[in-house]
Amino acid sequence: MTLFYNAKIYTPNGIVSWMLVKDGTISELGISNPPVDINSIDMKEKIILPGLIDAHLHVFGLGRHLEVLRLKGSGSISEMQNKLSEYSTDNEWIEGRGWDQGIFEDKRYPHKDDLDRIVSDKPVILFRACHHIAIVNSIALEIAGIDANTTDPEGGEIERDAKGEPTGILKENALRLITPFIRQSREIRKRMILAGIKECLGMGLTSVQPNDGGTWDIYKELQEEGKLPVRVSLTLNHDELSRENTPTPGSRINRLYFDRVKLFADGSLGAQTAAMREAYTDTGKLGIPIYSQEEMNDLVAVAKKAGARVEIHAIGDRAAEIMINAVEFNNITDRPILTHAQILGKDLVERISRLGIIANIQPPFIITDGVWVDDRIGLSDRREYSYAWKTMLDAGIHVAGGSDAPIESSNPLLGMYSAIFREDINGKVWREEERLSFDEALQIYTEGGAYAMKEEHRLGKLEKVIWQILLY
Ligand SMILES: [Zn+2]
Repeated sequence: MTLFYNAKIYTPNGIVSWMLVKDGTISELGISNPPVDINSIDMKEKIILPGLIDAHLHVFGLGRHLEVLRLKGSGSISEMQNKLSEYSTDNEWIEGRGWDQGIFEDKRYPHKDDLDRIVSDKPVILFRACHHIAIVNSIALEIAGIDANTTDPEGGEIERDAKGEPTGILKENALRLITPFIRQSREIRKRMILAGIKECLGMGLTSVQPNDGGTWDIYKELQEEGKLPVRVSLTLNHDELSRENTPTPGSRINRLYFDRVKLFADGSLGAQTAAMREAYTDTGKLGIPIYSQEEMNDLVAVAKKAGARVEIHAIGDRAAEIMINAVEFNNITDRPILTHAQILGKDLVERISRLGIIANIQPPFIITDGVWVDDRIGLSDRREYSYAWKTMLDAGIHVAGGSDAPIESSNPLLGMYSAIFREDINGKVWREEERLSFDEALQIYTEGGAYAMKEEHRLGKLEKVIWQILLY
């Protein structure tokens, strides 16, 4: 038994000053008269929060991000080229990420020739900051067998020049033509996951809910080797359900858990591939739904039949509508998750609430998106239901907070800051009326996250354990 006293302990019923912990669970809390004559720790008025939870990130991607060529902040294509020529790796492929043509002087996408000039003997793939677009060199195109005769896959685009030759730019589903060819040994993947986990732990996270396809066996191995210092509720890809080595949904090994699969309903706002009900204000485009309504209904039915929960990426309101329709059509009652939930509408918020759909939001997005989101969506009605975190909480929706790391920093305190202040990178506040209080921000990164991983009975709150189950 250990007593923590002289502390500021955040509980659902306000701040208390002491907490008694027995066998890893809380057995008593109080404001005055802490128990005496037991092992005790003076907290010297420090704050104790419930363990912070990230409900949507990519731990493997985060670890990979720490290793690959970083292009964020490159002001021109020649700056990208310089960074590429200075980078060396023992990997078979050269991977990079973080470029954004929006901040280049000439605003043009890089071309495969720009990369070939620097690296012509190894495949290179450099992802745009949004990760929905990449530039590749000629060898990478060759390896994937992409040439002038390759047709665009559904929901994707192989950008071409006037002669029909691929320029090296691949968008959305066209990326799937090449990503299966990117080779990393299992050893390297394990190293990357471990690096990601360490980063999360360093950020103060105690539970993470990564979308890391094809990684169950690696996480399992890490758990068995005693190398999982945080709880991991893993989301695998939907297409893994049919694979032999995929565990049964509901499988748990100590801190590792699996019960849900991921689907994409659309792309990103930055690349204008998020699917909208009304056209983008600046370009008149509608975005690209990845699946038709019928296809999405079928995919959700497959997950239901397998006993898996669904986590569906939807950024635009059209994509959210397709997700919500599929949940309703299949009568899904097992805590379906709408991840991102950025552009919505009054009708959609009502349906999300009524159908018990979890809104898995990424508050740090406002730092980047706040700068240009009005250009995309204009001042129409949908703006009132965009990044509508307060509105969703007030509608009784279970809201969970996440970072989408490595897209944004995995620091949960930065996420809470964004949820509270809603400032873009220039410090301008975007839709002040949707700001959360500190308690609400804490709630989405603790209780909200625990609910999303079905652990709210024992995680996410500092309070007495009422009914105790197995300790993990
Ligand atoms: Zn993500």
